[in-house]
Amino acid sequence: PSLEKVAIIGSGNWGSAIAKIVGTNTARHTDLFEPTVRQWVFEEQIDGKNLTDIINEKHENIKYLKGVALPHNVIAVPDVVKACEGASLVVFVVPHQFIHGICEKMKGHLAPNARAISLIKGLEITADGTRLFSEEISRILDIPCAALSGANIANEVAMEKFCESTIGCPDMEDGMIFKKLFDTPYFRINVIQDHVGVQLCGALKNVVAVGAGFSDGLGHGSNTKAAIIRLGLMEMRKFGQTFFGDAVQTETFFESCGAADLITTCNGGRNRKVAEAFVLTGKPIEQLETELLNGQKLQGTLTAQEVNQFLQARNMQHEFPLFNTVYRIVYEGVSPELITVDI
Ligand code: NAD
Ligand code: 13P
Repeated sequence: PSLEKVAIIGSGNWGSAIAKIVGTNTARHTDLFEPTVRQWVFEEQIDGKNLTDIINEKHENIKYLKGVALPHNVIAVPDVVKACEGASLVVFVVPHQFIHGICEKMKGHLAPNARAISLIKGLEITADGTRLFSEEISRILDIPCAALSGANIANEVAMEKFCESTIGCPDMEDGMIFKKLFDTPYFRINVIQDHVGVQLCGALKNVVAVGAGFSDGLGHGSNTKAAIIRLGLMEMRKFGQTFFGDAVQTETFFESCGAADLITTCNGGRNRKVAEAFVLTGKPIEQLETELLNGQKLQGTLTAQEVNQFLQARNMQHEFPLFNTVYRIVYEGVSPELITVDI
């Protein structure tokens, strides 16, 4: 069989950390993969130079993952069509707000047998309901799409601190190929079939993390945060049961993508950090995102808004008091103190 040709779409904080892993593994498993990996990089200028040129010369993404050496077989490409041309395995790792336009440009350029995997944490809300990003990618590009999500703060993974991650892939054979692409001794992959649950957890935990950040900003302690995490987990499960039914397995919440990711994001993530600053400074979220994250993007506040829109259309927002309170604090200006009152 011919070798799999891998493309990575995205090169932010997580995209860069994952490029290190993928590049290392394609070079290691030459029986399965072509070693060269093309990575689409959203072009920007840094001190008058293209970020793609910097990455290809220094083998480091100096803006989104400073100080971490990238494998030399990962090539940064500014044109998404050139990056994905002929690829048989496509890794999507962009902030969720950008995926649509990118997929549209990629149409017709992949290998005929191409399969994708989405590392995106977020939900697509449409007029008739929610769509997972794997479904959205499948719909636009007409290829199967799995998902990878876990307790994986990018900077820690890049420093090779041990963690686990979950791949959700209905086709176990493809799941095992993706496992070969991502698994390392410090990034331990478990493959399950519930790709719906994997993505639901990854999206919704970001909303809970915003709530945890409010709690930190208010100076509440560990017990309060544990309560927010527990109540959040219950709402995540209820959301899955209510809107996706049997498609979401309860066991998935015990995988890395479930409770573990919720815990790490509520302790060490960007959503938590910005929400804490929101309480402490009173500045708008967008301003804090710019001031604190240097071009990295928040997913949780946007997801809170999208989830609220979805629930409101069904008049069900009061059945998810934590999601609803996070939304009202960010978008309706109610007091952050309500995070321990209305949930
Ligand atoms: P990031 O937050 O670092 O986002 C910035 C990226 O967006 C940059 O590559 C930037 O060039 C790009 N960008 C900016 N404007 C754009 C535009 N108009 N069009 C297209 N791209 C544009 O990205 P990330 O951390 O790699 O996150 C990607 C996904 O991975 C998210 O869904 C996130 O939740 C998820 N994730 C992140 C982490 C983490 O620790 N960072 C861990 C696991 C999963
Ligand atoms: P943040 O986007 O809040 O940093 O969360 C990162 C993450 O998904 C860790 O698994």
